[in-house]
Amino acid sequence: MVGSKAGDRKFRIVRTVAEFREQVSAWHRNDLRVGFVPTMGALHVGHMSLIRRAQEMTDRTVASIFVNPRQFGPNEDFAVYPRAEGKDTLLLAEGGVDLLFAPSVEEMYPGGAVTKVSVPGIGDILEGEYRPGFFTGVATVVTKLLLQAQPDVAVFGEKDYQQLLVIRRMVQDLDIPVQIEGAPTEREDDGLACSSRNQYLTENERAVAPQLYQIINAVAERYRKGERPPELTHWGKQALLDAGFGHVDYLEVRDAETLQGLSDPARAARVLVAAWLGKPRLIDNVPV
Ligand code: AMP
Repeated sequence: MVGSKAGDRKFRIVRTVAEFREQVSAWHRNDLRVGFVPTMGALHVGHMSLIRRAQEMTDRTVASIFVNPRQFGPNEDFAVYPRAEGKDTLLLAEGGVDLLFAPSVEEMYPGGAVTKVSVPGIGDILEGEYRPGFFTGVATVVTKLLLQAQPDVAVFGEKDYQQLLVIRRMVQDLDIPVQIEGAPTEREDDGLACSSRNQYLTENERAVAPQLYQIINAVAERYRKGERPPELTHWGKQALLDAGFGHVDYLEVRDAETLQGLSDPARAARVLVAAWLGKPRLIDNVPV
């Protein structure tokens, strides 16, 4: 058993569901636990921290790269979303990932795939309100990926905090047998959350961008000291506009579990924001 756990560590890329499923079930037949990190590619240190988390928890690690057309709205950036499979592959191989699943759109959605998974309630507010259909697209593709391979653990970033909660709800509601693990947000030295979309920022915008994190931290601090929405969130939105952000979709202090408004100050809270800075729309969140 030790031999089979130690051997067979060669990085592989597969592009079909059949190969993806076969490799994971072969590991399972050998009593190896499998960790899974779904991504849309253009990998950065944030993604790699999820991979390390999966490696700590399991014996074999799979990443997927799939720019999922069904989670982009008609006016969103699907066509120009950054794609860098060559560089991503090197990073994953160097990072000790065992398998990359990189399917085509046709492989994931063969003609006639109409079934959707939607998570009403928590999927309709905040991001769901500003990006209608987004969480249905995410929930559908993540359900498919989890059922295709049935990993033991799947790791998601707190950078997309609402997405993590939507996926936890979905996995619980659908009895999908996987452990969902949340991993903390990786940031640049100046506090800006690492994101594939940061590369769209101009030099000036990049200089302004870290204020997103500074301002939501200030909102969290003021909340701790007793300030409350809506005055507090008005202050935060104005601070973002004064810093140079173009438009603030939302800046909210919400219940950290339900993302509803907070009535009980004893419950854990989370500050969540989405704001435009030039072309990109940046999102971030911090605990209170
Ligand atoms: P994406 O490729 O942007 O769809 O993200 C794939 C996964 O990486 C999601 O679980 C994200 O939450 C996570 N992720 C993205 N950026 C970061 C970051 N800066 N720190 C930690 N996780 C991240």
